[in-house]
Amino acid sequence: MPSQPDSWSTRLASRAAERREQGLWRHRRTHVPASGVHDFAGNDYLGLARDPRLAEAQANGARRFGAGSGASHLVSGHLEVHETLEQRLADLTGRPRALLFSTGYMANLGTLQALCDGDTHLFQDRLNHASLIDGAQLAGARSRRFHHGDSVDLARMLARSPVNAPKLVISDGVFSMDGDVADIAALATISARHHAWLMIDDAHGLGVLGRHGDGCVGRAHDLSRVPILVGTLGKALGTGGAFVAGSQALIDHLIQFARPYVYTTAQPPGVAAATLKALDILATEPERRGHLQALVAYFRHEAQRLGLPLATSTTPIQPLLLGDSRRVMHWAGELLAAGILVGAIREPTVPKGQARLRITLNAAHSIDALDALLDTLARLTKAEDSP
Ligand SMILES: *Cc1c(COP(=O)(O)O)cnc(C)c1O
Repeated sequence: MPSQPDSWSTRLASRAAERREQGLWRHRRTHVPASGVHDFAGNDYLGLARDPRLAEAQANGARRFGAGSGASHLVSGHLEVHETLEQRLADLTGRPRALLFSTGYMANLGTLQALCDGDTHLFQDRLNHASLIDGAQLAGARSRRFHHGDSVDLARMLARSPVNAPKLVISDGVFSMDGDVADIAALATISARHHAWLMIDDAHGLGVLGRHGDGCVGRAHDLSRVPILVGTLGKALGTGGAFVAGSQALIDHLIQFARPYVYTTAQPPGVAAATLKALDILATEPERRGHLQALVAYFRHEAQRLGLPLATSTTPIQPLLLGDSRRVMHWAGELLAAGILVGAIREPTVPKGQARLRITLNAAHSIDALDALLDTLARLTKAEDSP
C-alpha cells in the first residue's frame, strides 16, 4: 500500500497544535549586537564571549591553522593548537589528560557510549542534563534516576544492584535549571564504597567555581574520587566545544571507542586558540569571579526583599520559581519589553508545574543593569498583588 501523501503533514500539524495549546511552543529570537537588550539568559558567566581579546585570538588562530580543521582528530584534523588546549585543560582540572569534543552534548554521548554496554548499571541524578539522559539511551545501558541531590536514595539503589556489574554514578556539578551544586564529596564516598565510577558534568561550574576557576570538582577532588570529569567551553569560557578529563587509560579508551569523538570534524582551530586566551584571562583576572559573586549576593539580597520566589542557588544561575508556564511567559514578555532578556523555562526542560524564569548573572553586567531587572520584577510582583 502506498502511504498517504499527506500523513506526515497532518502529523506535524497536530503535534504543533497540541504544543501551542499547552502554552509550550518554543520561539527562537534573532539577536543583533548592540541592540541595548540586557542579556540575563545566557551562560557567558565571565562575560568572555564578546571580549575582543578572544576575537583577536580566534582570528589569529584561523590565520595560522585555517578557518576549519579539515578533518576529524584521527584523520588529519588534530592540530597543534588542539594538543596545547588539551594539555591546558588537563592542568586546569588537575587531571593527567583531557580530550576535546565538538560540543558538551557529544562529550556526554561519546563517553557513555564508549564506556557502557547492556551490562552496565547507570545511576543518574533525576535533574541531570538532557545529554546525559540521551547518552544512557545511546549506550543501551540500564539507567536509573535517583532523587535530586539525595545520596541516601543513591546508596539504596547501589546496594540493590549486582555486586559485580560495572557501575557508573553520574551527576551535573551545577544543575543548569536550578543553580544548586552537587555534593561531590558525598557522591564520591558512596560511589567508592560500591566500586562505582563517578562522572561529573561541570558545564556550569567550570570557570565560575573553585579557587582557580577550576570548577566544583577540579583540583579539589582528585582523579581517585572523580575519575570522569566533563567540562564545556561554551559557557564561562565564552567559546564552544567541550572536554573530558581523566586518566591516560580513560582518554585512550575514548579515542578508540567514542563514536561521537571519532566520526566528527575537529573543532575549528580558531575556537581552540580563543579558548586558550580565555584560560589565560581566567588565570590572570580572578576579579571577574569576585565581581560575579558580588552580583549574585546583591541580586539575592534585593530579590529576597521584594519577596520573589528565589531558589537556594548561590551560583550565577538564579531561577525565579513561578510555577505556571503561562505566568512565566507573561513575565518574560514584560521583561523583554523593558529591554531585559531572561530564560523562560517550561516543561519538558523542567517538570510540569515547575516553570521558571531562569535568570543568569554575568561578570560584564553593571549594577545599573541589575537594578533595571529588579525594578521590572518589583513592578510585576506589585501588579499581581493588586488585581
Ligand atoms: C550546556 C550543557 C551541556 C551541553 O554542552 P554544549 O557544549 O552546549 O553541547 C552538557 N551538560 C550540561 C550540564 C550543560 O549545561
